[in-house]
Amino acid sequence: MTIKVSSWTGLEVVVPVGFNRSHIAEFIQSKSRWIKNALERSHPVEELKRPESVQLGLLNAIWSVGYCPSSENRVSVLEQPGNVLLLTGPVRRPATVAVALNQWLQKRAARVLKPWLGRLGAELSLPFSRVSVRRQKTKWGSCSAEKSISLNRNLLFLPEPLARYVLVHELCHCRQLDHSEKFWDFLETFEPNARQTAAKVREASESVPRWAMV
Ligand SMILES: [Zn+2]
Repeated sequence: MTIKVSSWTGLEVVVPVGFNRSHIAEFIQSKSRWIKNALERSHPVEELKRPESVQLGLLNAIWSVGYCPSSENRVSVLEQPGNVLLLTGPVRRPATVAVALNQWLQKRAARVLKPWLGRLGAELSLPFSRVSVRRQKTKWGSCSAEKSISLNRNLLFLPEPLARYVLVHELCHCRQLDHSEKFWDFLETFEPNARQTAAKVREASESVPRWAMV
């Protein structure tokens, strides 16, 4: 029996044919410390490449990306007509390109997600104190006891219903901070299939491209 951990596939357990599956849980339990460490250390294994296109599900938009090397010392991202993103400057290194695209993404996300949360909070009568948008490694959003909501900028990659779910989920935490039955019941008054949607949202991290994870 072997265990593999990566940020793409998560935890993978490989067992021989005919293996008694009832022992798997016990085996995982016995390795839990190793698994926890490995998950914390794991980095995306996929090679970082310059994207040819950028698709933001939430905005229903897809850009083709053009690269134009020039002598400037910073990469600039220019939005051009016909849904083209033109990157100029030192654009040969994928890592440099990723940094510039992530800055562009961050601005877009703040512009879209902050007012949206405000509208939803007012519409559903679920007040919050403040909102920030940033890259979060493992969460789509979070909410503090002070009703301060933090949203993952990569929500832009999700389809609208899933991103909306995350915002409503965090707004509901302003009323009920934990994940108790009471919380889920309250959330389901706004999101009737909250538990199923939560599972879809977890899987949707696969729609985030490699460059947006650096
Ligand atoms: Zn939650």
